[in-house]
Amino acid sequence: MGNRPAVICALAASEPALKIAVALIIELINTGTELMLGHTLNTHQQWLCNRLADLGYSVTRQVAVPDTGPEIQAAVREALGRADLILTTGGLGPTSDDLTRDLIAQLLGRPLHENAKVLAHIASFFARRNYPLPAGNQVQALVPAGAQVLWNPLGTAPGLALEVRPNPFRPDGKVSWLIMLPGPPRELRPMFTELVAPLLREKLPLEEAFAGRTLRTVGIGESALQAQIAAPLQSLVAAGMELGYCAHSGQVDVRLAARGNRAAELVADGEKTVREVVGPSIFAEGDASLESVVVRRLTERKRTLAVAESCTGGCLAHRLTNVPGASAVFLAGLVTYSNEAKQTFLGVRAETLAQHGAVSEAVVLEMAEGARRVTGADFALAVTGIAGPGGGTEQKPVGTVFLALAGGFPTVVRQHLNLWERETFKQVTANQALELLRRALDTTDHGQSGQPV
Ligand code: ATP
Ligand code: MG
Repeated sequence: MGNRPAVICALAASEPALKIAVALIIELINTGTELMLGHTLNTHQQWLCNRLADLGYSVTRQVAVPDTGPEIQAAVREALGRADLILTTGGLGPTSDDLTRDLIAQLLGRPLHENAKVLAHIASFFARRNYPLPAGNQVQALVPAGAQVLWNPLGTAPGLALEVRPNPFRPDGKVSWLIMLPGPPRELRPMFTELVAPLLREKLPLEEAFAGRTLRTVGIGESALQAQIAAPLQSLVAAGMELGYCAHSGQVDVRLAARGNRAAELVADGEKTVREVVGPSIFAEGDASLESVVVRRLTERKRTLAVAESCTGGCLAHRLTNVPGASAVFLAGLVTYSNEAKQTFLGVRAETLAQHGAVSEAVVLEMAEGARRVTGADFALAVTGIAGPGGGTEQKPVGTVFLALAGGFPTVVRQHLNLWERETFKQVTANQALELLRRALDTTDHGQSGQPV
């Protein structure tokens, strides 16, 4: 359940936005031999480009290089020859393959000095975990002369920001900013949001006003969504608003952006239009996940949830428990894969299984009601289906899924056909289950009574 399946994005950009986009040259260099071997999916590329776009900055060029000296230095030297901002990721750690800091300092002729505050932070990081400070980690306290330290409370390697002034590699003599970020996503992401974004606003402000908005939808395919909203948005696109779509596992993000004096107005009008057309399918703005929205709604309403999963194999429980604060609302997840488990743990009746089969409306209904009964949760979601590639029949082909929501109202059952490979199948099915609950929470009086849509 680690790497999410491919994300497909499309952009219907208007002319003026593209012209502005090249005003500031921004380059991203992802370092790491594991990226070149295909061992690690380069999620920094997607995440950073996305965050920068949300702030109104467009990445002009992105490269990934192995973490060998010549490759990193060549990539940075080349980027310094033309870019206003260069972001590097990875290679700030303590091991022999973590060379980014040293190589860049060497390239720029900046001596490295031990920073006492960073060293104290690293020492306390290990002390709090009752580990002695490994000798290798001391190199992470080395800071190139003139560099600004970007604090990393979640790890030992600080990020580093430096202004290359004068920049000997740039024929036009312009200044470049070089920002080095650590490799682990859980360190890089907060560092970017909390420290790099404000630094960019201060040091590399946008030439024009920018407004951007991402509306996250679920349950409508990318083409169907486009068919519904493109025409109503046409006049705004003609007036300079960018409209982009980004699809991932049953969810499609709609991105609206504009620049210039009318930016805020264009995007606000665009958002109003999208909401008018597909409002009920919009579950969040920005980058909030569907599960985080569900957990938040349940928390606000002081309601609890249990899940009974078959074909999703724990994906629902996994996603829900990834949300900080889930323990306030999530009581239990039962992965009942076999018929026996469905009977033993959820009380699904042998006759129901024999008569309808494990993938059926009748069984999913008993799973949801059973999960609610045995856990005492206010709501229970259940899923059963055929992930494939085997196991399909003419009546119930591979991809068939039944979902149920029990919640003190007549249990709601839905059927879908999710024709995806197993991993995407799980994510799409989990989305459908979460969406069933989200709609119920939104459309009933706090999910306390009545039948959800
Ligand atoms: P560390 O102290 O962990 O060594 P580092 O700053 O040296 O951190 P790397 O060694 O390059 O960073 O990468 C550490 C881990 O971060 C990698 O094993 C990988 O899991 C993750 N990572 C690095 N680069 C990327 C990337 N481009 N996309 C996604 N994950 C990445
Ligand atoms: Mg490393």
